[in-house]
Amino acid sequence: MFHLTCSTCAKEFPADTTAWRCQCGGLLDLTFEPGFWPDAVSDRAPDLWRYREALPVLDETAIVSFGEGYTPLLPVSFGRRSAWIKQDHLFQTGSYKDRGAALLISHARALGIKKVVEDSSGNAGCAVAAYCARAGIACDIYVPESTSPAKLEQIAAYGAGLIRIPGSREDTARAVMAAAENTFYASHTWNPFFFHGTKTWAYEVCEQLGWKAPDSVVLPAGNGTLLLGAAIGFKELTAAKIISRPPAIIAVQAEACQPLTRAFETGSQQPVKIEKRDTRAEGIAIAEPARGWQILAAVRASGGGFISVTESEIRTAQQRMASQGYFIEPTAAAVIAGLARYLSTAPDKEIVVSTFSGHGLKAAGH
Ligand SMILES: *Cc1c(COP(=O)(O)O)cnc(C)c1O
Ligand SMILES: [Zn+2]
Repeated sequence: MFHLTCSTCAKEFPADTTAWRCQCGGLLDLTFEPGFWPDAVSDRAPDLWRYREALPVLDETAIVSFGEGYTPLLPVSFGRRSAWIKQDHLFQTGSYKDRGAALLISHARALGIKKVVEDSSGNAGCAVAAYCARAGIACDIYVPESTSPAKLEQIAAYGAGLIRIPGSREDTARAVMAAAENTFYASHTWNPFFFHGTKTWAYEVCEQLGWKAPDSVVLPAGNGTLLLGAAIGFKELTAAKIISRPPAIIAVQAEACQPLTRAFETGSQQPVKIEKRDTRAEGIAIAEPARGWQILAAVRASGGGFISVTESEIRTAQQRMASQGYFIEPTAAAVIAGLARYLSTAPDKEIVVSTFSGHGLKAAGH
């Protein structure tokens, strides 16, 4: 039905493997063909499982769900322009990470996994912890010591073990890899099931536009968990001839941490080594993205580009959205700052879609 394939050496792994990367160190991707027809979904429940035939599920009875997905797509104005924005801050745990966690933890449950480990700068940890709580799976979440207090409180409230690692986000990643030697690694960056959850963003956007693709999408780029998922979704919808072509992907980074923008500008296939500075956009402050080359390739193939935003643009975007009644966290505001910049030069007739990636309450008091 489907299997995993190493993106470096093409070695194949069965769908029920617990490996999180290939012996060669390569990233595992899913080789999966959706059998999906738009006509079938119109009278289904308004959640992401309405695209059931497009989702890799080993065991239907193991699905873990809060009825998530099918978030509203609302027009938001930016001066004389407007864009469609997915309200993905409205998920159970307050960020779009629930899309990925729903598929990944359902898969872990289908495999009979009793305990998982995960590392996160916050929101992925919240999502994995919540879905594990619902599934009755134990989990330890490794976080950088500097993570927002509200996110730590949320992770702990779900009953997850909270393991705080001093140092950088990369130090946290190294710590969890050691733990992953003997515990299932429910990784939002390495595990391809996560990306087949976030791809539902693309399915929903196209359905909500009347089964049409937008001209461009403006998305965050840290580890690219939404961006790469969306790219998979648009690619599948194009292959099935449900849309005529995928949109251009405009990827947004914070100027304080822009290994991918730099790589894009210099024509590099790999993320560039950078000195990371502090940024309020903690969710995308990833200096060494594991799937960096895939993000660069996806953006280039789409005909899109990269935008890096300043701390002051992030603050302005957050205030501007709040003044229209949308309370989003700084990382989400960084994406909107990039959207505002993109709209100032985009052709008038372009249909542009972006996203509110995380709720403002996440970083309140920070
Ligand atoms: C995870 C996250 C992002 C995007 O991060 P990636 O590292 O690209 O997956 C953006 N905004 C918020 C609020 C997030 O939690
Ligand atoms: Zn390999």
